[in-house]
Amino acid sequence: MSPVLPDWPSASPCKIAFVGEAPGADEVAEGRPFVGPAGRVFNVILRSANIDRSTCLVTNLFDEKAPDNDVGPWLRDPSRLAAASERLAGELARARPNVIVPLGGSALWAFIARMKISDFRGAVTKAARIAPGAKLLPTFHPMAVQHKWTLLSLVVQDFVKAAREGDRGPKIIYPKRKLLLCPDVSEVLAFLEGPCVASSLLSVDIETGWGCITCIGFAPDVETAMCVPFVDLRRPNKSYWEDPNNEFLVWNGVKAVLEDPRIPILGQNFVYDAFWLTDYGIGVRGYTDDTRLMHHALYPELPKSLSSMAGSYTELPNWKSWGHFKTEKRDA
Ligand code: URA
Repeated sequence: MSPVLPDWPSASPCKIAFVGEAPGADEVAEGRPFVGPAGRVFNVILRSANIDRSTCLVTNLFDEKAPDNDVGPWLRDPSRLAAASERLAGELARARPNVIVPLGGSALWAFIARMKISDFRGAVTKAARIAPGAKLLPTFHPMAVQHKWTLLSLVVQDFVKAAREGDRGPKIIYPKRKLLLCPDVSEVLAFLEGPCVASSLLSVDIETGWGCITCIGFAPDVETAMCVPFVDLRRPNKSYWEDPNNEFLVWNGVKAVLEDPRIPILGQNFVYDAFWLTDYGIGVRGYTDDTRLMHHALYPELPKSLSSMAGSYTELPNWKSWGHFKTEKRDA
């Protein structure tokens, strides 16, 4: 069977490369990728994101149709995967895209040995196996959208993001952050009384565990945040504040900020946080905006997990699953 060759971009270096899984019967018949049912969905998404297909590299991990369209055995066959990866690496080297968009779990697997596309979609990710160091922006395969139309707006958002990343050039640029993680009492009070009081929208988030609030995060602007810890499992009494007087001062500072009606507060499903805080004698006054509620109002059909929302609204890498990576296996 002759291979299905890529659609080459009209110029190289190009801005975006899309990498699918393997051609189907329609692609084999026409000798071009993404021309059958998946291709029609792909074209709809491209149009919605205002991307001109002719300027992009459009290719697949495997360039032949898999028996029964099941690439599982090929992904588990090291020599077949290595050969496909080498061919794909050559295509990418020729087209020199600024960003590569793996479409679906199989393509993602080839780049970073991870399969769970929902963990990575929308997150700028560094390629490891093919084109090491290259900028990836993974998203769902168009066929997944065909089966579940509620994914459409997510994938359009990811394509829009890919276009933006394509315009930014090949370098991965992560947002700059100033984070204060293990503050002492004076640092906490200075941060609360200074940047937090002056903030035009103060983001607040509590973490809970062992039946109590374990820490509270305050972000007075998009670049700056402080974590106020309360629980520290490394200490004999499990408290971050060894001296109870210091803990008292810190709680008082937190209370003063959260009860100040002039400080507008932004939270994520913040009713939960506010309930917890009432147990600590804190009645939040300035609760103004809620990312989760706004997301629900805009896209009631979409998932509401923080990782999914971060994939849509932020430039962050997939930080939510960093603590949970296990050896990932493809379903048999
Ligand atoms: N699915 C793919 O992954 N690639 C194609 O080219 C067509 C369908």
